[in-house]
Parts: sequence; C-alpha cells; structure tokens
Amino acid sequence: MRAGFGLLLMSMLLACTPESSRESAPTSETASSGILNIYTVNYPLAYMAQRIVGSTGDVSFPTPPDVDPATWSPGPETIIDYQQADLILLNGAGYAAWVANASLPRSRLVDTTAGIADRLIPIESSVTHSHGPTGDHSHSGTAFTTWLDLEIALEQARAVLDALVRARPEQEEEFRRAFATLEAELQDADAQLIAAARKLNNQPVLFSHPVYQYFARRYELNGYAVHWEPDELPEDALWVQLKAVLREHPAKIMIWESDPLPETRQRLLKLGIESVVLQPGGNKPPEGDLLDLFRAGISAIEGATKI
Ligand SMILES: [Zn+2]
Repeated sequence: MRAGFGLLLMSMLLACTPESSRESAPTSETASSGILNIYTVNYPLAYMAQRIVGSTGDVSFPTPPDVDPATWSPGPETIIDYQQADLILLNGAGYAAWVANASLPRSRLVDTTAGIADRLIPIESSVTHSHGPTGDHSHSGTAFTTWLDLEIALEQARAVLDALVRARPEQEEEFRRAFATLEAELQDADAQLIAAARKLNNQPVLFSHPVYQYFARRYELNGYAVHWEPDELPEDALWVQLKAVLREHPAKIMIWESDPLPETRQRLLKLGIESVVLQPGGNKPPEGDLLDLFRAGISAIEGATKI
C-alpha cells in the first residue's frame, strides 16, 4: 500500500518536472543538483573541468603520478568509480585504450575531440616503433597529444563546457564566465607560442619523443621525432642514428618531455644541440598547472631562439 502510494507520488513528481530539464539531465538517476562528480582520463581535461566547474564539481583523475595516462589501465575498483561518475571526460584520438573495453555508461561519456575529428593526426607506419627498457610501447594509430595545439585544447575545453551546461543548465552563466577566463588564457598562450615558434624561422628541431605532432603542426615547426627517454642515457646506437638524422636535419634544439639526464644534455651540447623542456602535461605536474607548463615551454623555446 505504502509502496503504491510512493510510486504514485513519484509519478506525480515526474509529471511536474518540466520537460526541458528532464531531457537535459545526463541520465535519469543524476539529480540536477548537488556536486557534479566528474572523472577524466588525463590531467588537461581535469584542469579544464575544474576551471569551469569551480567548487560546484568534484573532478577526479585517478592515474597515479609518474604513469602515462595515455597507456595506463585502471583496476576494477577504479573502473567502478568511473561508472558512477556523472560525467566521464575522454580525450578521444585513441587515448586511454582501456575505455573502449570497459563498460561505461555511454550517455555520460564525453569525447572532447569528437567535434574536431577531421583534425586528428594518423601516425604513419614509418614513425611507429616500440622499444625500451622502461617498458615496451609503440606509437601507432592516432596521435593523441591533441591539447599541445592550443587551438584544439580550446575546442576540448568548449566540449567540456557544453557537457557541464547540459548536466547543470541552471549554472550555465557561471560556467560560461569561468570558461571565458580560461579561453582568454589559452588564446594568450597560443599567441605567444606562435610568436616564439616564428623566431625559430623554420630551422630544424628535434623532439625527444613522438608526442609533439599537434604542436608541430599548429606552430609550424620543422621537427623530427626520435624516441628517447629523459631519465635514460641513450645507448650508442641511438647516438649513431642521431648523427645520421643531423646530416639531413641539422637541428640545434631538442624539445623534451622533461629534463634529460645532465650527461645526455652535455653530449647533445657537444653536437651543438640545446635541450629545451616542454612538458606535455598528460599527467599532473608536481608543481604548477597546465598553463604553467605551457608558459615554461614558451620561455624555454624563446630562450633557445636567442642563442
Ligand atoms: Zn614512446
């Protein structure tokens, strides 16, 4: 009897819910109030979401530090956490392959590069390689460090904004205000990168790892990617390969994901190559935020162009 009354009450409540707000909720069980529980597959998306949602959202990015979120797979308990999130922000471009094999609620998945699919970069087989004492990994399929093209990063932030507005339409105004500040900062960093890259004047540069495809395209860098690890001294064969590359591609700058070993830096200097760090920031940096990483990269490139 009581259950019957409960059901009746429930259906009355539902009947009183305006059509529009019911449609805009990400799922029927997600109340359109309370703290939004957001999960992301990388740090850039977590950063963007946190900037836009402010204190009205709880943003989780569970990849442990010092692990590349692009190739990491969460354990069963963490997958349950993802399943229970109101929104799951994905990078697309084949990033975090575990997503394709996990049963995640489709209605709450947001592929932040779906809108720019035509700008994704396929990796040519000639660039595909796997090796390394730090773990075998290869680069194939689609290049995924999309946010290093700050114009694409902005599109990803816009996709995050749209998803948040759909989930909490009543907060649209404050979300848009927060987004506008983020947008201005990304556009500013983008303009600075364009200016810094222009000073390179098409001179050849090296990338320590094949993760700068979007960066090179956006900022028109004449780049060649080797496959070195910052925390390992490259073995002799890699130096021999590098010298062969330098004959065709006489680079004076190598852009690294993080500081190379001092010995590597010294040996490169002897070849006339300055090491410059531009951390992609797929995982959370120990200090600072995503824009700090971009700004540090900009100063490093500017410094190198003055040499
Ligand atoms: Zn690699």
